[in-house]
Amino acid sequence: MRFLADGMLGNITRWLRLLGHDVEYEPAKDDRTLLNRSRIEGRVLITADMELFRLAKRRGVDAVLVKETSTAQTLSRLSKKLKLRIDFDELESRCPTCGSTIVRVAKPSVRERVPEGTYRRYMRFWACTNPACSKIYWRGSHWKRIRKTIAEAKQGGV
Ligand SMILES: [Zn+2]
Repeated sequence: MRFLADGMLGNITRWLRLLGHDVEYEPAKDDRTLLNRSRIEGRVLITADMELFRLAKRRGVDAVLVKETSTAQTLSRLSKKLKLRIDFDELESRCPTCGSTIVRVAKPSVRERVPEGTYRRYMRFWACTNPACSKIYWRGSHWKRIRKTIAEAKQGGV
């Protein structure tokens, strides 16, 4: 299942990518662009806009309505509605910034590309495979928070 998120859902887009889902983010505000793109690319439209959601239903475009409450609640809601996996798997994970796949890279290869302290502290690094992005990732201090949010989402977003 592939997705298209509307311009209000940047946060949830990054989360779904981190969890390995194929999500395109469409900052364009007009409904026509969002509906056409969903239809042409065969993506389920994720939107926080009730009117757009209704319009999608009327036009026969697959759509799901989310309320951006907490991240955990939103993920939980999506997982129930769409039977989405919300486990983190490093082999499936995608670049939160651009949505491309990421791969594990050898530590020496990132030496010039991450802060000195980060290089010393961490052993494992991943890189985005999209040359235009090529971001480097590691399990930094935010990692605990990510695990916590995923655990909360799995418990129904409390
Ligand atoms: Zn990327």
